[in-house]
Amino acid sequence: MPAAAPGAAHAAGSTPTLAQNYHPLPVTLASGSGAWVRDTAGADYLDLLAGYSALNFGHGHPTLLAAAHAQLDRITLTSRAFDHDLLVPFADALAALAAPRVAGPPMVLPMNTGAEAVETAIKAARKWGYDVKGVAPDRATIVVASGNFHGRTTTIVSFSDDADARTGFGPFTPGFRIVPYGDAAAVRDAIDETTVAVLLEPIQGEQGVVIPPDDYWPAVRAACDEAGVLLVADEIQSGLGRTGTTFACELWGVRPDLMTLGKALGGGIVPVSAVVGRADVLGVLTYGTHGSTFGGNPLACAVGLAVIGLLATGEHQERARTLGVHLRERLQSLADDGLVERFRAVGLWAGVDVDPARFTGREVCVRLLEQGVLVKDTHGSTIRLAPPLVIGRDDLDLALDRLTLVLR
Ligand SMILES: *Cc1c(COP(=O)(O)O)cnc(C)c1O
Repeated sequence: MPAAAPGAAHAAGSTPTLAQNYHPLPVTLASGSGAWVRDTAGADYLDLLAGYSALNFGHGHPTLLAAAHAQLDRITLTSRAFDHDLLVPFADALAALAAPRVAGPPMVLPMNTGAEAVETAIKAARKWGYDVKGVAPDRATIVVASGNFHGRTTTIVSFSDDADARTGFGPFTPGFRIVPYGDAAAVRDAIDETTVAVLLEPIQGEQGVVIPPDDYWPAVRAACDEAGVLLVADEIQSGLGRTGTTFACELWGVRPDLMTLGKALGGGIVPVSAVVGRADVLGVLTYGTHGSTFGGNPLACAVGLAVIGLLATGEHQERARTLGVHLRERLQSLADDGLVERFRAVGLWAGVDVDPARFTGREVCVRLLEQGVLVKDTHGSTIRLAPPLVIGRDDLDLALDRLTLVLR
C-alpha cells in the first residue's frame, strides 16, 4: 500500500520565484525506480511519460547509475580545450551504433540538449550547402514540416507553426520553408537550388505521435537524392529504442544523411545530445566554427557509452516491439468500446485522442494522477503514452486499467 493518496503532495505550483513557463500536473516527486516514481508524501505513481522519452531505460537504471557514479569520482569536465579518455570511445561507439543506419561513414558531434543538436545540424547543413553544394552566400533554405517540434531556441521557433511557441519571439531567422507533414510531393516542390536540407521528425512526438504514411520517408529520401539535398532526421524523441527499432527511420529502411539524437542518450541522468551522420558533411565544421563548453564532457560520455551499451544488445528495442503489440491491442479495445476517438501507436509510444466534448487532455491527466499514473497531454485532447521501455507487462496493464477506469 502506498503511504499516501496520489495527488496530495504538490509544492511548486505557483511559487513567485519560479518562472511560469510550464504548467505541471499537481504532484511533487522525490524519488524514482524503473517505471515508478514516488512523491514527497510517499504516494507511488507509474511514470508513463518517461521524461518525454529521456527515461527510456527508466529511473535509476543500475548500469547507467553505476557508470555515472564511477565517472563522478574520476573526472567530470575537461572542456574541449583538452581531450579526455572517454571522448573517442563515445564517438566510436555512437558511430558504430549508427553506421548501418546513416547514408555514409558516420562522424559524431557531441552537444548537450536536443535544441543544440538541431542547431548544430542546421549550421552543418548550411555550411555544407555553401562549401560543397555551392549555394549563393546567405541564401540557404531548409525545408521543414508543419506541426514540427525541434526545440525552443530563437532559430528553431522561427520555423515552428505553433503560435504559443512563436508569438512574441520575433524577429525570426529566415531560410526555412514549411510544408505539410506527411506530403512528400510538397517536400519535392519546396526544394530549389537554394535548398541544403530537409529536416523532419520521423514521427511527430509533440504533435501527438503522428505517424506519416509508409511511403513518405522513402519518397522524401528519393527527392533529396535527386536534388542533392541533405536529409536530416530529428530522432531526439523517436530514436534510441522507443519505436522498437534503434532509430525510427529504420521502420521504413531509410538512411538519413544526419540524425539528431538527445533525450534518452543521457539516460535521464545528464543532458547528452549529438549530431551523427555523414563524415563528409559534419567534416565542414572545422576548428573554431562551432563548439560547446559542456558538449562531450566525461560524465556525459560515461553515461552515453552505457546507454549505447544497453542499446547494442537489441533487448530494449525487442521489448518495445513486443510490449508495443500489447499496448496497441489494449488501445484498440478502448477504441472499440468508444472510450477513445483515435489513437496512433508504434513500439511503446502512443498518441491517444479522447472525445473533447467529454474531457480535455489535461482532465484525463489529472484524473489519472489521482489513480497513480502520470501522463501528459499534448495539443488539446491528445495524451501521449511513452512508458519506460523497462516497464513490466503487469505495470503496463495496471496503467491501462486505470486509463480505462478514468475514461469510463
Ligand atoms: C525534445 C525534442 C527536442 C528538443 O530537445 P531539448 O533537449 O528539450 O532541447 C528536439 N526535437 C525533438 C523531436 C524533441 O522531441
